[in-house]
Amino acid sequence: MPIHEKSLIRPENLKTHDELVIDGVDVSGHWSTFIEARVVTDYNEALEEEIAALPGGEYIHRCWQCGSCTNSCTVNAINPDFNPRYWIYLIRMGMESELLRDKDIIWQCVSCNKCTYACPRDVFPEGVMKATSHWLELKGHTPKSPSMHFDEVFTEQIVKTGKIEESRTIRRFFARTKQALMQDWMIEMTKRMLRHLPIGMLTRMGLATLVAPRTSNWGAASKAMQEYIDEQEHERAEALNLAALAKRPEQDVAA
Ligand code: SF4
Ligand code: SF4
Repeated sequence: MPIHEKSLIRPENLKTHDELVIDGVDVSGHWSTFIEARVVTDYNEALEEEIAALPGGEYIHRCWQCGSCTNSCTVNAINPDFNPRYWIYLIRMGMESELLRDKDIIWQCVSCNKCTYACPRDVFPEGVMKATSHWLELKGHTPKSPSMHFDEVFTEQIVKTGKIEESRTIRRFFARTKQALMQDWMIEMTKRMLRHLPIGMLTRMGLATLVAPRTSNWGAASKAMQEYIDEQEHERAEALNLAALAKRPEQDVAA
């Protein structure tokens, strides 16, 4: 049987013999390449349910392994080890330890959604990639990604004020991810803005980083959104069997 996805064969599982003669035929070297059999005993039978409990993972059960997602994937074209089809297979089989071997590249999905358009079963593979990255973070297998920090900063600001102020968002994102505020690209962008944008707009953006404007009468909406988020996080914590999802610190939410 031809092997279509050679990248799935771990180099450490390939065995060759420098000198091997079988039935009088010399099959030394390349001709004696074998793939070592592996035995999986540590299945996580709840893995598919855990991923399905996170936003984006809801339709993973629909996958029929056609491979269209991987074939169309932007990142796979650069790195064959980035393989959404294979990870969906591992999740559905409960092969957690095998999935963890790729934990450092799953977050690299660029959310181009080519896979989503190619998928004949409406699995939303992009969502599954997001859910899997989120799962890795919640289970403590990987640190919180910059993307997750950004989502949190964005959500907190909406819940608190009903508005998004880009300058405030980026400042908080940099603080959360311990990055210097003044970066080369930002200095260049500011220079260009000064050349082309009205001073009034820049002043308002600057002020918004200090005093967060707020949508009027936002209190009830903010409370309802926060209650919904808490409820969702509680459900996810139960689905993933986590004692408690870390509550966002109050100072982060403060406008
Ligand atoms: S959304 Fe992610 S998984 Fe889907 S094609 Fe783009 S990079 Fe690949
Ligand atoms: S394209 Fe859809 S059905 Fe096909 S392997 Fe990917 S997720 Fe599964």
